[in-house]
Amino acid sequence: MEPFAWMHELDHEQVVYCHNKELGLRAIIAIHDTTLGPGLGGCRFYDYVDESAALKDVLRLSRGMTYKAAVAGLDLGGGKAVIIGDPSLKTDAMMRAFGRHVESLGGRYITAEDMNTSEHDMNTVRQETEWVTGVSRYIGGSGDPGPSTAFGVFQGIRACLEVVFGSPDVAGRTVAIQGVGSVGYQLAKHLHDGGAKLIFSDINQGNIARALEDFGGEVVDGRVFWETPCDVLAPCAIGGVVHERNIAGIRAPIIAGSANNVLEDEDRDARLLAEKKITYAPDYVINAGGLIAVYAELKGWPHEKAMEDAARIFDTVKRVLNKASAEGLTSLAASNKLAEERIAQVAAVQRLRLP
Ligand code: NAD
Repeated sequence: MEPFAWMHELDHEQVVYCHNKELGLRAIIAIHDTTLGPGLGGCRFYDYVDESAALKDVLRLSRGMTYKAAVAGLDLGGGKAVIIGDPSLKTDAMMRAFGRHVESLGGRYITAEDMNTSEHDMNTVRQETEWVTGVSRYIGGSGDPGPSTAFGVFQGIRACLEVVFGSPDVAGRTVAIQGVGSVGYQLAKHLHDGGAKLIFSDINQGNIARALEDFGGEVVDGRVFWETPCDVLAPCAIGGVVHERNIAGIRAPIIAGSANNVLEDEDRDARLLAEKKITYAPDYVINAGGLIAVYAELKGWPHEKAMEDAARIFDTVKRVLNKASAEGLTSLAASNKLAEERIAQVAAVQRLRLP
């Protein structure tokens, strides 16, 4: 498909190509939908094979942000940026130049950290624009989003337990976590404190050792993770981990974790999971705690308010699962519909012309 055809198909408002030969900057900023508010989404620095691959990625990711913010109930739209190139060649000057491009959009796009960009980079971007989040705490930032994300995932797991077993209590439940890094470790802590039994899988032996030492539990080999008998499988590592080749072997009734793009093929795999009566908490719904924290940063709200809002992921996940069963949809289709309904309602309000 031609690049502009992708833009039409995914229904983007604006796509900006940013270039500076002298500094070696090549970036694309995609604004998907600003009905609910400015498009917010991270800036990814990645060595794409070509500009087409970068464009495809930024269009897909920015659209995802629209849905994520909409379902989380935030007054934010969807945006994302990619800087094309080898991240080891990243310079402060490049990040400042990127910041100028962000500034030129006058607040329609707000940037943040993403793959291969750091808090330091956001501080650098901040020198050129105020439309940036994830800056250091000493200049008003909200710091690492990992703990807020983990708290939201914990609430989402409780919601799934209530829908499946009639009680949100994690005590005595067994949760298998794939990836005990920033989010997985914090999630394990909440579950451990709540009395859950834990099973870990990670390719980093140091992270496994830390989790075992702090919370006890068992370890499972990554090759058989998806067949682990347990109440909840919590993918907190990488994407594309659930697919038609492993769904048949899944024995847990619930999949709920922080990883982005959990399903290899969204529609197909969501359907296969629903057919197998496995409750799936859509990734972008359950992992919105970090975005909620960044939104609080933008608003100047205290951290406690961000955590209160992240706790509402419990209600949001329940609403999505209940809508799915009431309307005979997959959970993913139900959350997409919730997002589209909220955007349509706000758009209708915006069309009101009253004296
Ligand atoms: P992280 O890098 O801190 O931790 C990832 C962990 O997964 C590491 O311990 C790593 O060794 C392990 N891992 C990597 N590949 C693995 C594999 N194949 N099998 C098992 N373990 C593997 O990352 P994070 O910040 O904790 O994020 C985890 C996931 O959650 C990612 O998919 C991320 O996109 C998503 N997410 C994170 C946040 C956040 O606030 N950090 C927000 C939303 C979504």
